[in-house]
Amino acid sequence: MRQMKIVCNKCGREITNEDILTVEKRWGYFSNNKDNEVHSFDLCEKCYDEFISTFQVPVEIK
Ligand SMILES: [Zn+2]
Repeated sequence: MRQMKIVCNKCGREITNEDILTVEKRWGYFSNNKDNEVHSFDLCEKCYDEFISTFQVPVEIK
């Protein structure tokens, strides 16, 4: 069950009744000094759009 209160990690806005991006990553052996750490963050749709607009290669859309 997802926690009730979600805050966008980028803009700090509280997110309610919106679709969001949730990323959870366990860094493994080949990472650079993050061995076995789990990092997670949430982004609102606006911040997601800003984030992917910085990509050199666009996201894959199906
Ligand atoms: Zn945001």
